[in-house]
Amino acid sequence: MSLPSRDSYRDIPLYSPSKAKCSVDLSDNTNLFGMPPAAERVLRETVASQVTRYPVGYAPELKQAVAAYAGVEPSRVTTGCGSDDVIDSTLRAFLEPGGLIAFPDPTFVMMSYFAKVNGLRYAPVPLKPDLDIDVDGLLATGAKLLYVCSPNNPTGTVASRAALERLVDNAPGIVLLDEAYAEFARESHLDLAARPNVLVTRTLSKAFGLAGMRVGYAVGDPTLIAEVEKARGPYKVTGLSERMAAAALREDLPWMKARAAESLTIRARLVAELEGLGLKPLPTEANFVMVPLPGAPAVAERMRQRDVNVRAFQGLTVIGDALRIGCGPWPMMEAALTALREALR
Ligand code: PMP
Repeated sequence: MSLPSRDSYRDIPLYSPSKAKCSVDLSDNTNLFGMPPAAERVLRETVASQVTRYPVGYAPELKQAVAAYAGVEPSRVTTGCGSDDVIDSTLRAFLEPGGLIAFPDPTFVMMSYFAKVNGLRYAPVPLKPDLDIDVDGLLATGAKLLYVCSPNNPTGTVASRAALERLVDNAPGIVLLDEAYAEFARESHLDLAARPNVLVTRTLSKAFGLAGMRVGYAVGDPTLIAEVEKARGPYKVTGLSERMAAAALREDLPWMKARAAESLTIRARLVAELEGLGLKPLPTEANFVMVPLPGAPAVAERMRQRDVNVRAFQGLTVIGDALRIGCGPWPMMEAALTALREALR
């Protein structure tokens, strides 16, 4: 007997970035400076009933904490199991299967995956040569959902304010702005979430150091938020994750800001070292650096043999082959630079 399966799923591979077990792992842009202290306290103080009972639907305590952090009303916030889940739910909420989403290329690799699992068509629109988003190209697709990531993963580059505003002003539908790396950037565009057609997503996985707890959120108009919550369902954030994330947002901002500032200092040192090797890292406003480098996958493999994991990309639009190196405590960067020097020999 052949079991039922979706034809459209046949060619979807599971997400599998290289997760080689290396002592130094700079491949996923997480905060490598430890756990936020208030979140750690909540973890230790968890009692049995918080594990055996369901959390409250739609995570109101977390919404409240996000709202205070973002400076908006709780009705303008939804949360999810990582911003992955918020993005996935947003695609499902606003597009019927067969609908079209457009996004810059290159951008967050999961976007084509989320499009496919939701039965959507997708239109990648190359970044401009100056690495800003191509507003006219995105609008020309006619897509009712336009996704932009700024600072952009994997390039680290940002979309200009003027381009974002023109996109929002002229979009025929919704603009989903992914600010997963906002805490490292010079400028935030969270204020655009006041527009009726914009959702801004963020995460606790990067600057806040809670990637394993899987907490993300979106800010936007309450009518958009309500649609995303229909697609998301009530219990996507675990009770423990909700309480740890809420505590971090309420109490650990000084910790988070200090770690983010440290990342930026380290990033500047890393960029200088890479330039010293004759490489040309892209301008970045995230906690990682993208370095165009022909043959990057083989270089990353040689670095893995030296116990350092960085992310390699092959044949990216506009950029070509490249390494993406996350910023952690300086001894990790020294290890990465030593491995890179040897791998380039
Ligand atoms: N957006 C971007 C741009 C990312 O880089 C990531 C993490 N790789 C995510 C969203 C998802 O993060 P999370 O699900 O951990 O919130």
